[in-house]
Amino acid sequence: MSGRIDVDRSLPPVAVPAIVWNELRSHALETVPEECCGLLLGKAAGFYETVVRCRNEMTRLHQEDPLSHPRDGREAFHMNEMDYVRIEEQAREERFQVTGVYHSHVGVGAYFSELDQAFALEPLFPFPGADHVVISVVEHRVRDIAVFRPVRATGGFEGRVLSTEAP
Ligand SMILES: [Zn+2]
Repeated sequence: MSGRIDVDRSLPPVAVPAIVWNELRSHALETVPEECCGLLLGKAAGFYETVVRCRNEMTRLHQEDPLSHPRDGREAFHMNEMDYVRIEEQAREERFQVTGVYHSHVGVGAYFSELDQAFALEPLFPFPGADHVVISVVEHRVRDIAVFRPVRATGGFEGRVLSTEAP
């Protein structure tokens, strides 16, 4: 792993339904100055039809044990485990799968940081095949939303702009 991954603007954007884009945007704005996080559900890999919010536990973890968790919720996220287990169970009943994990960056761009990559590649990460969506909020505005997809051939990730479908 070497450095952050930026969006590759030579690749075509990934278009999602406006309702999905708007919900990602709202959640990211509501949690400022902290990062938001949650899951994207779809019927097949690469599709996002529903956004489900998770609580970000990083500030609590940081306060309890700052040595193990040097960053708080302004700089990192830790999805509440009960939230994502419950969401995944419910999704499965409705024949949806977790196709993406999202979080926001506050004050910086929508890149895939080394920390984000480490989290995504962790052996215990619950959604190994999922895409990673990153929402950048700068000065209380959403600047960019990007999606980082695992690339099987290289074991790395490829970043694209996330845009809304034409109505
Ligand atoms: Zn991040």
